[in-house]
Amino acid sequence: MTKIEMKTPLVEMDGDEMTRVIWQLVKDELICPYINLKTEYYDLGLESRDATDDHVTYDAANAARRLGVAVKCATITPNNERMTEYHLKRLYPSPNTTIRAVIDGTVFRAPIIAPQMKRYIPTWKKPIVIARHAYGDIYKNVEAYVPAGGKAELLITDEDGNETKRLIHEFSGGGIVQGIHNTDASIEGFARACFEYSLGAGLDLWFGVKDTISKTYDRRFRDIFEKIYNTEYKQRFESAGIEYFYTLIDDAAARVVRSEGGFVWAVKNYDGDVMSDMLASAYGCLSMMTSVLVSPDGVYEYEAAHGTVQRHYYKYLNGEATSTNPTATIFAWTGAMRRRGELDGIPALKAWADGIEAALLKTIEDGVMTGDLYAVTENPSAQRVTTEEFIRSVRGRYETAAQ
Ligand code: NAP
Ligand code: MG
Repeated sequence: MTKIEMKTPLVEMDGDEMTRVIWQLVKDELICPYINLKTEYYDLGLESRDATDDHVTYDAANAARRLGVAVKCATITPNNERMTEYHLKRLYPSPNTTIRAVIDGTVFRAPIIAPQMKRYIPTWKKPIVIARHAYGDIYKNVEAYVPAGGKAELLITDEDGNETKRLIHEFSGGGIVQGIHNTDASIEGFARACFEYSLGAGLDLWFGVKDTISKTYDRRFRDIFEKIYNTEYKQRFESAGIEYFYTLIDDAAARVVRSEGGFVWAVKNYDGDVMSDMLASAYGCLSMMTSVLVSPDGVYEYEAAHGTVQRHYYKYLNGEATSTNPTATIFAWTGAMRRRGELDGIPALKAWADGIEAALLKTIEDGVMTGDLYAVTENPSAQRVTTEEFIRSVRGRYETAAQ
């Protein structure tokens, strides 16, 4: 087999723990045998972030802006335990937050629906795609503990130096305070990304915030969506026969559960964080979900939605065979290659991506599964395999189909 040649390099962002192990396996078994892999490599593993004072994360994000397509491995967001474990100089922010702040945009997460998996919500016949705003709110917060007797105020100074002050709270006992923000530009980008995605996929768009309680902050999201819909998208939605539907976030959550799926659900940053894990688990497993960050100017960053699977990694370090599901990591690579292929006019890259994804689903359909899927499958003759065996099975089926 001659290898596929690439033109523009992918931005490769390596990561931590079990997903770092899987990353290398996927490259060795599923990519490098078939593609002359061209990447600009950035090591976002925690040691490398610490050694570069986190510069490597910013460099990687800027490379994604420059080259247009990136693929990212899961990374540790350090907490105090990690600080001790890795002897860190300081507590670095989440790389995803840093990258999203540089690239801006919206994270689209869709379940990968494999045959024979138990669905916790049997009425969900079609995928529900979560569109998560990826900028601001609590992910860019400023927060503080306020001791008893303290007073917290919100102060806004405009361009001319005029001040507007609002009392937040006078604390008789100790308490906490948090400042969050968002920008019109980012919300507009979020709205356009959602409308474009819905049109592209031919799916209705649902949007929900809490504007009954948050009459300025959340209301701004609702108003911007409505304005952009009415001025730029209404006609296109009508001719495509799809609908834009706004409702309160709690009503949306209830309707989503009763629905049969088949729409895009746009949510604010935090709602998206929580709801995408809920959705992925309800469809079967956290590892069966694609995740891509799309910026308003067309930068695509593909990743797995789950973390570094620390519990499995410690078993791996102990020499135990692990059965971690590599599906989300594999789909991050196939998604990025497909996009690179489209941009550079290399149909072979798209064919490779389609072939690998089909081989992976066939592997599961044939009853070859990692532990997480094995636990929820309805196939009585399924067998539980290790991560490596699973990846080799995918390779075997890819090669059989390619012959
Ligand atoms: P996690 O890595 O998502 O894993 C939580 C649990 O979910 C695992 O223990 C495992 O359950 C199951 N799981 C997740 N992915 C799986 C897979 N591919 N195959 C099989 N099972 C899977 O979350 P965490 O352990 O809470 O976080 C570990 C680290 O990841 C943290 O340092 C966190 O900061 C980081 N994180 C990174 C990202 C990102 O970069 N995108 C996202 C979230 C968290 P069982 O143990 O029951 O098998
Ligand atoms: Mg999350």
